[in-house]
Amino acid sequence: MIRFSALLALLALFPAASLSAQEAAAPPQDWSLAIHGGAGTLKRENMSAEQEAEYRAAMQAALDAGAKVLREGGSAMDAVEAVIVLLEGDPKFNAGRGAVFTWDGKNELDSSIMDGSTRAAGAVAGVTIVRHPIRLARAVMEDGRHVFLSGAGAEQFAAEKGLEIVPPEWFATEHRRQQLEKMKAENLAALDVEFKFGTVGAVARDAAGHLAAGTSTGGMTGKRWGRIGDSPVIGAGTWADDRACAVSATGSGEYFIRAGVAHAICARMLLAGEGVQQAADAVIADVGELGGDGGVIAVSKDGEAVFSFNTPGMYRGRATSEGVNEVAIFAGE
Ligand code: ASP
Repeated sequence: MIRFSALLALLALFPAASLSAQEAAAPPQDWSLAIHGGAGTLKRENMSAEQEAEYRAAMQAALDAGAKVLREGGSAMDAVEAVIVLLEGDPKFNAGRGAVFTWDGKNELDSSIMDGSTRAAGAVAGVTIVRHPIRLARAVMEDGRHVFLSGAGAEQFAAEKGLEIVPPEWFATEHRRQQLEKMKAENLAALDVEFKFGTVGAVARDAAGHLAAGTSTGGMTGKRWGRIGDSPVIGAGTWADDRACAVSATGSGEYFIRAGVAHAICARMLLAGEGVQQAADAVIADVGELGGDGGVIAVSKDGEAVFSFNTPGMYRGRATSEGVNEVAIFAGE
């Protein structure tokens, strides 16, 4: 990695030599992966040691599942799907089982996935009976006729594609129901009852140099009127482009949509030549200025895996072929 950046610096100094030098340079053959399980007011004092350990173990298990795919030469798309399928099945996170409740007491799920090598994408919103919304998003992408399906139509498509259908109650947990009841009884905002955005996401670069990003969520507690956040919106919650980066976001979705977060990060890299950390920090600062909270995970085309968030914490992890393997919760870890 260090040698590769030195080479890039040299290329910048001697642009005339760049073509032949680029041809001579072996393409980087490493993989990397970053994952998140939501950002928010995650503070040590709000969490018991037991809860903290459970979340760390869950993030590590998801990271390991994705890293295994990449280590064995699998694709970035498969790694992203493997991570998200696992987290959708874990009731601790606001995706799949354990999703937050709408104002009407339902679980409405949103998800999206994007393949950076083709910029093919698939997304679904407001689904209530599909066990793994990320698989449905991928099926939409692979079918190729449309990018974004919603509600009953998306569910009919899922059934036609043979995806696993479950009763709506499958997603409901007592803990999330109590959050809705508390919100209504005390007239609170979503974040006052959740303390965090528990959306899940993954971004990966595989050994072939391809990028992918995916995100899955139940949205925000007490959402009404068919509200859709940023998570299934391609360019806001999810974006992947082999020429720049792959991004998955979590946070107050309305602001992430207005800032076009995931696309903006990659566009800054592509058009302004910013590094992935610099671009992610700039866009999260922009979200903050609009009044939004949350964060992103991103991998660059060269495999740099980064986080950026303006909340006290974000469930996150990263692993690379260079031996990085870490999960974290609080800011400053
Ligand atoms: N971004 C999601 C939404 O607004 C919430 C989250 O990140 O948990 O639906």
